[in-house]
Amino acid sequence: MPLLEVTDLHSGYGDLPVVQGVTFTVDEGEIVTIVGPNGAGKTTLLGTLTGLLKAWEGTVSFGGEDITKMAAHERPEAGLVMVPEGRKLFPFMTVHENLLLGAFSKRGRRQADQSLAEVYDLFPILTERRNQLAGSMSGGEQQMCALGRAVMTRPRLLILDEPSLGLAPILVERILDFVRKLAETGMTILLVEQNVHDALEMANRAYVLEQGKVVMSGPGKELLARPDLQEAYLGV
Ligand code: ATP
Repeated sequence: MPLLEVTDLHSGYGDLPVVQGVTFTVDEGEIVTIVGPNGAGKTTLLGTLTGLLKAWEGTVSFGGEDITKMAAHERPEAGLVMVPEGRKLFPFMTVHENLLLGAFSKRGRRQADQSLAEVYDLFPILTERRNQLAGSMSGGEQQMCALGRAVMTRPRLLILDEPSLGLAPILVERILDFVRKLAETGMTILLVEQNVHDALEMANRAYVLEQGKVVMSGPGKELLARPDLQEAYLGV
């Protein structure tokens, strides 16, 4: 059984349909990535998965349970956790305090000490910066802190919305390396990413979203090899 199973999902804003019949799955231990042009509906799709937006039609099932109508604030407790675009740390709190706030879930609280040790081990830069105000760090460091904070929640599925957005190319590589490292610890990851080449390369499976619909899907490396994808997304 997939960990996440999305079936014929529709959602949008007011009368405007954006997500128009999306079906996909994420299995335990996979990195699944969603790519597509600006305005394709990727962020809207993620908002519907996390419950910030209502599903108009279709179902979202997580760990075998239908969560289509579950309140947004209950979803992290169930293990579905998103790092939103733009990071959203508490700028006037230290890195350490931001990380501890990640352990708000019941699962997170029980394992807070162990998680902290793991996060500091995974992201040594955060150990160096633990007493620094989060808002005073560079964009890349803030993104690592946001990833670390999400790990503190002990997610069963970690959803990342464009983690490399706005970062210099060298930092993009570092952030994506961290995502790979997280995946190697067994974390299941759903990744929306602008860097189509990197995203497909690291994904077990990928979906291409255009105008609210899935237009291609398959193993990341298989999609990367397709001439139609290369032409549309990689300027080949
Ligand atoms: P990007 O890569 O630019 O973030 P995206 O694939 O994430 O694009 P969405 O942000 O989901 O796309 O936007 C899909 C469509 O929904 C766009 O046409 C956008 O204008 C519209 N839209 C997004 N947010 C809202 C909103 N709050 N109210 C009305 N329309 C919105």
